[in-house]
Amino acid sequence: MTGIDIDKILELAPSPAYVVDLGRIRHNLAILDQVQKRSGAKILMALKAFSMWSVFPLISERFYGVCASSPWEARLGREEFGKEVHSFAAAFKESDVRELLKISDHLVFNSFNQLERFRHLWEKEKVSIGLRVNPEHSEGDTPMYDPSAPKSRLGITLSEFEGHSLDGVEGLHFHTLCEQLFEPLERTAKVFEEKFGKYLHQMKWLNFGGGHHITRDGYDIDGLVELIKYFQGKYNVQLYLEPGEAFVINTGILVGEVLDIVHNQMDIAILDVSATCHMPDILEMPYRPGIKDGYDPGKKPYTYRLGGPSCLAGDIIGDWSFETPLYPGKRLAFLDMSHYTMVKTTTFNGIEHPAICTFEPESGELKVVKKFNYMDFRNKLS
Ligand SMILES: *Cc1c(COP(=O)(O)O)cnc(C)c1O
Repeated sequence: MTGIDIDKILELAPSPAYVVDLGRIRHNLAILDQVQKRSGAKILMALKAFSMWSVFPLISERFYGVCASSPWEARLGREEFGKEVHSFAAAFKESDVRELLKISDHLVFNSFNQLERFRHLWEKEKVSIGLRVNPEHSEGDTPMYDPSAPKSRLGITLSEFEGHSLDGVEGLHFHTLCEQLFEPLERTAKVFEEKFGKYLHQMKWLNFGGGHHITRDGYDIDGLVELIKYFQGKYNVQLYLEPGEAFVINTGILVGEVLDIVHNQMDIAILDVSATCHMPDILEMPYRPGIKDGYDPGKKPYTYRLGGPSCLAGDIIGDWSFETPLYPGKRLAFLDMSHYTMVKTTTFNGIEHPAICTFEPESGELKVVKKFNYMDFRNKLS
């Protein structure tokens, strides 16, 4: 990960700690802002990916709001981001809808059943109502992350969509991508238009969901701008994008420290950071994170299996090799750890939650925004 002064952070940060580089966030925001300015689309940040609210002021300066998956996320967006809140969930309870109607600007239903069941609640309100559709066009290879996979519960398919009243519905929403460049969106939008384009003329807005890796090198921004302009021009709708990851890719690291080295057929380093507690996508996705100065096993003289401090046998981060031996107290930096980490952590085994920090590259200041303690663990239980 270029552009983050990791050595400096490793020197200054407590361990364990998530450290977010404010310079890298500003870099991503500038790219996303350019998309909104050139295309006229409104970009929302998906709280599901990143909810570090202490940096929301930096983001809300330029962006229209957030998308939320629940009343708690919606409230966080309303109170800490302070702009538009667009809410969607696979299904709502009546109490959710009552609460979301008070704090949302858009409310998106996942079925006609829910739309009609709560019509008496939303019809009296100013909130703009939308429906999530499923274009049944898969671009991802991992079913876990593919809302268009067969038998998906996310979004209304065309055969279920036809023949219903759209009275009161002002927008359509689709979200089918995950960590993708422009071309998958372009193909998806084409299928979406073929299937649902006929309904767009009566809509005020269209939401392309998230999963767009707009801030990754190689993203075709010109293509995206053209696609947005095409839909806005042809159908006279306001376009929304709600990326999560794209706001914060390559902006943060997780700092960890070696606690012990044991041997069982190979050298195994036990760290104060855990796959299951602090980087759960390593096990869920699954994927292999980057480590500063870490290489594939056997590439460098010293190879280790890295594991967490928990009792879970499978709390394994993976195998890496290093130029120099690891030792207790040695700091390691896991790369690209801002998104889908802090929002997904647990305190399983009572393991200490990493501190949440910012690093300002211009001044070199590392700020510990929050440190967790025993009472945080206790208060989550009863
Ligand atoms: C997950 C999700 C997003 C954000 O996805 P990213 O992959 O983080 O960009 C946006 N909208 C909806 C409906 C989602 O489920």
